[in-house]
Amino acid sequence: MIITIDGPAGAGKSTIAKRLAKELKITYLDTGAMYRAVTLKALQQGVDTLDEDALAELAAVTRVQVLPAEDGVRVLLDDVDVTAAIRTEEVTRHSSIVAGKPKVRATIVDWQRRIGREQSIVIEGRDIGTVVFPDAEVKFFMDAELEERVRRRARELEEAGHPVDREALTADLRERDRRDQERSVGPLVKAEDAVAINTTAYTIDEVVAKMLEEIRRHNQ
Ligand code: C5P
Repeated sequence: MIITIDGPAGAGKSTIAKRLAKELKITYLDTGAMYRAVTLKALQQGVDTLDEDALAELAAVTRVQVLPAEDGVRVLLDDVDVTAAIRTEEVTRHSSIVAGKPKVRATIVDWQRRIGREQSIVIEGRDIGTVVFPDAEVKFFMDAELEERVRRRARELEEAGHPVDREALTADLRERDRRDQERSVGPLVKAEDAVAINTTAYTIDEVVAKMLEEIRRHNQ
């Protein structure tokens, strides 16, 4: 069974996908972590994040593992734990640029499809229901108002001990959304057959309950 969750940054995808996977006792796959890991490697090796061919070459010789962990996922980049390192502001900023390169996407989409062929997953990202698994059993498109998304990201950063500049955070989310929506390959767009969920006014429990209901209805 493949369940896809797409949507913009801060819509609640990761938190909800993790919970949903736990309820269904299947694997949670965070595809953003893959784009982030390749981005981190490019930054570490001084590869220009605008150079598509160099990035594609780099991705082709990179091994990224997104492993289930107690509190989400553990991410290994060429066998080195980069779980925390991929969440920095610098990596976040560059990751949507790297993710805009079609040749890089081709490689990373391939990694995702390979995982989905082997096991049942709840997989979240931007193009999962449209491009990666267009035949997935159940698809969701999750969104929330920008102000709420900024509030959530700010809370996450504060909890991790990072200083937060709300104006900069708002500008950054807007810019990442724009890049994700406007790229030519795998843009952020709702699949026609995805169930839309606006999480602005709902608790995590409420959203998870709604989704489980949808999945049960599908399986009947
Ligand atoms: O979801 P997360 O914010 O961790 O993703 C990091 C970046 O990777 C996003 O800004 C987005 O540009 C990109 N991404 C993507 N396609 C996906 C998942 C993430 O383009 N399926």
